[in-house]
Amino acid sequence: MVLKEIWLGDIRIVPIVTSRFRLDGGSMFGTIPKILWERKAPADKSNRILLNVNSLLVETGGEIIFVEAGMGSKFTDRQREIYALSDRDAAGGLQEAGIPPENVDIVILTHLHFDHAGGSTGLSDSGEPVPVFPRARFIIQEEELSAARKPHPLAAGSYDPRDFEPLLERGQVETVVGGKEVAKGVFVERTGGHTPGHQVVRFISGDGEALYLGDLVPTTAHLRLNWLMSWDLEPAVVYEERARILADAEKRQVTVYFCHDPGVAASRIHRDSPSSYGLVESTITKAVH
Ligand SMILES: [Zn+2]
Repeated sequence: MVLKEIWLGDIRIVPIVTSRFRLDGGSMFGTIPKILWERKAPADKSNRILLNVNSLLVETGGEIIFVEAGMGSKFTDRQREIYALSDRDAAGGLQEAGIPPENVDIVILTHLHFDHAGGSTGLSDSGEPVPVFPRARFIIQEEELSAARKPHPLAAGSYDPRDFEPLLERGQVETVVGGKEVAKGVFVERTGGHTPGHQVVRFISGDGEALYLGDLVPTTAHLRLNWLMSWDLEPAVVYEERARILADAEKRQVTVYFCHDPGVAASRIHRDSPSSYGLVESTITKAVH
């Protein structure tokens, strides 16, 4: 599903819902009691909450960029059932926006967990993983690639080599260390925390600024600084980076994009309390359909 675009000067940003699925609500909110989180994210009878992957199609300086590939389609029927996974994917979402995946020049992945990198590859008729974006360079933090290829035992289940090894074989991966401008007005910034090489994506033009938060702040419920996910490998780092980046986004009125929120793709934010932020109503981009 293609959502309302925004223009930042010459940069066009179009959110596209590339996946819709469910994950255990407890795992999405770590130590926070269900009695608190279920008001924000209602659970089904299996305790799962609804999540999107809200990707971004970005056009700038004559280049087409895609941020976050989503879950993709390489799942067994059993996995589809466990994640209540819908059959949408990145290629389908881009087609709806009128962009064939082979036209994409750059793909930026915040990290390599399968719900973010899965859509980078699909399955051939013989069941082999093959690139979905045959011409694209993939921008990934060097530390993330190392972590995904030799994962910490706690994180091993979150990575699927079929999502990135075919890209490495074809020389499609460009690793980055720290911050870098990867296209006109498009910057990656390493945050770590959720994974060793997690990065956010910043868009800057004369007319304003936007920020794709990835899993640093996956949904609007996570605008509470201490609502951390069980998946966060270094929770204290996530807390510190989240506090720093949200304070700056509020101060300078940056539009922030939420990767996993099922109802809100983007919004500006204001401070609600010393430890939480709320949405500025007039700036919300809906992600429901
Ligand atoms: Zn995620």
